[in-house]
Amino acid sequence: MSEHTLIKNGSVFDGTGSAAAPAAVLISGEHITATGADAVTQAKSLNDVASFDATGMTVMPGLIDAHCHITFDEVSSNDELFFHRDRPGLAALIAGTNAKRVLQAGVTGMFDADGIFELGYDIRDAINAGVIEGPRMKTGGYALLTSVGGTAGGLVPDSGIIGYGKIVRTRDEIIIEVRRQIKAGTDWIKVHVTGLVPGQKKHGELQVWSDEELQTVCDAAHDLGIPVVGHCRGAIATRNCAKAGFDMILHATLMDDEALDAVVKANVPIVPTFTFQANLIDYGKLVGANEAIQDLFRREIDDSAGKLREAFDAGVPLLCGSESGFSVTPYGEWHWKELEVFVKNIGLSPEQALRSATYEGARVLDLEGEVGEIAAGKLADLIVIDGDPTKDVTILGHRDKFKMVMKGGRPVDLDDRLPPHGHISGWRVNDYGRIIDRDLVAENS
Ligand SMILES: [Zn+2]
Repeated sequence: MSEHTLIKNGSVFDGTGSAAAPAAVLISGEHITATGADAVTQAKSLNDVASFDATGMTVMPGLIDAHCHITFDEVSSNDELFFHRDRPGLAALIAGTNAKRVLQAGVTGMFDADGIFELGYDIRDAINAGVIEGPRMKTGGYALLTSVGGTAGGLVPDSGIIGYGKIVRTRDEIIIEVRRQIKAGTDWIKVHVTGLVPGQKKHGELQVWSDEELQTVCDAAHDLGIPVVGHCRGAIATRNCAKAGFDMILHATLMDDEALDAVVKANVPIVPTFTFQANLIDYGKLVGANEAIQDLFRREIDDSAGKLREAFDAGVPLLCGSESGFSVTPYGEWHWKELEVFVKNIGLSPEQALRSATYEGARVLDLEGEVGEIAAGKLADLIVIDGDPTKDVTILGHRDKFKMVMKGGRPVDLDDRLPPHGHISGWRVNDYGRIIDRDLVAENS
């Protein structure tokens, strides 16, 4: 590997939302050291410069996926997640290979909200130490659940640990668990703020925490300098989390005026994460999803888009998250899909959506000003893609258009593609169920 790389003749989208423009980019060591005419001039005075001709291509920051579950290994149900992903060593080994798939898809940074066996800490540290390949990563530990549960309804026990979650029943248990996770090395505290109450369908997910409990989590985490992220569906939970001081909100669907007002006042970043729903709407029939679910998801996106757009217009950062880790959202396949939703449904321009997926994402990695931008002094986390994503963001979904992925100045091997892993006894509930990957879509289009 050469010490320096000069990418020339390409167009640069710098991540800030400015229009792409022709420019060269010089990389030395881990960093971008110059762009534009400076890059060409400086390169002339250096030895050992690898030159990359990016004619017809766009250089842009690597994608930052603000909502992944790297330890779930493409589960198709809570059942599978809670009762079949029961081997921590195996789960960690598989997550290690999946992290590489994510990186090869041009994702140079990811936020893992919560994981089974709290493996996020180990995956993160293994990536940082170069033991395995993967994106820069920040992680949560176990999601905090009240005994009412989260989206898994009655499968959640009244106490203890299940899958990705830890049940906290009292103010004391909340504080003890927050402190334990922080000591164990968590980057974020994740709270499952809303849940499905069995027997209650009319109102969808309800806030299953009291406002006082939400405040307790925030106080306990913030006292030790750790941010808090909440899974919130519905206006009430979104409003109350913004008021309690949450640092990021996942989903924030169906906001009303009050929720919007609270979110704008707090300027709390939102990760809508519609990729899961969008994939089931677009491709669900290939895997036998029923139409009622597709309609429900379509309505959720349609009914949420307007307020999310208002939040964006008021300056609230919207981040791109894919919820990768489910059979609907396999690793390395759909990290770009949220950009399409941002453009098609929320009405952002491609440049705005690309900024959400790069520059804005730096905050989840606690690397603001260091990644998510093509500029001198930034870490060299970047993609070179054949074509112009500022005209059409969906080109980021074409594997063959990726000509270079670089993380910290090191090119990622894009030819060394891992096949899906084979059968492991008891690991999958349904070995005949299909995962919605792009091959399946291509076969049926
Ligand atoms: Zn999630």
